[in-house]
Amino acid sequence: MNPDVSKVAEDTDADAVGRLLILAGPSGVGKSSIVHELLKRPGRKLSVSCTTRSPREGECDGVDYSFLSTEEFEALVRGNGFAEYAEVHGNYYGTMRQPLEAALADGTVLILDIDVQGAEQIKSKYPEAISAFILPPCIEDLELRLRGRGTDDEAVIQRRLRRAEVEISKQDEFDHRVVNDQLGRAVSQIEDILKP
Ligand code: 5GP
Repeated sequence: MNPDVSKVAEDTDADAVGRLLILAGPSGVGKSSIVHELLKRPGRKLSVSCTTRSPREGECDGVDYSFLSTEEFEALVRGNGFAEYAEVHGNYYGTMRQPLEAALADGTVLILDIDVQGAEQIKSKYPEAISAFILPPCIEDLELRLRGRGTDDEAVIQRRLRRAEVEISKQDEFDHRVVNDQLGRAVSQIEDILKP
């Protein structure tokens, strides 16, 4: 191997610094579709959260979430296994510390789809993390999307809508705000945010 080439490769690895992109915003705002588009570029990964909520139809353990019992989750909390965790809609959700640190070490852009409480915790521990709050064009649009999903009953939808208003009131705590009125436009705004 050409020694100069191997030197460059080594330097690049040594300098690899990953980045954290926090995407928060109310349930049903379309974060998953945005994440799906962002992941089409190489060098990016989605942080797979742990949760104590039950899987929805079609969700896979280890892919959409790691589905844990409350006991398992609490044991991880005691063992300092989470970079952040929060109670959302009556269930625990958390980001494991180890895969997050690994992504930072290997130069990955790690996308975190987390709530505002988790975003706050990540920002205080990793101030260089980039945070974006995804907004619906209006609250009625959010309600339509939540109903359109067809996965949650009325009480759950009402709870999510009430929580959405609280979350939206915290949008100013984020580095960026992106209105998801058109998927392509929202994604390209986030791509701009990610440009070095
Ligand atoms: P859902 O139950 O609809 O999948 O998610 C409910 C909320 O929990 C969403 O706002 C989502 O962003 C948030 N969430 C998902 N994973 C995490 C996590 O690891 N930590 C925190 N704090 N919130 C999360």
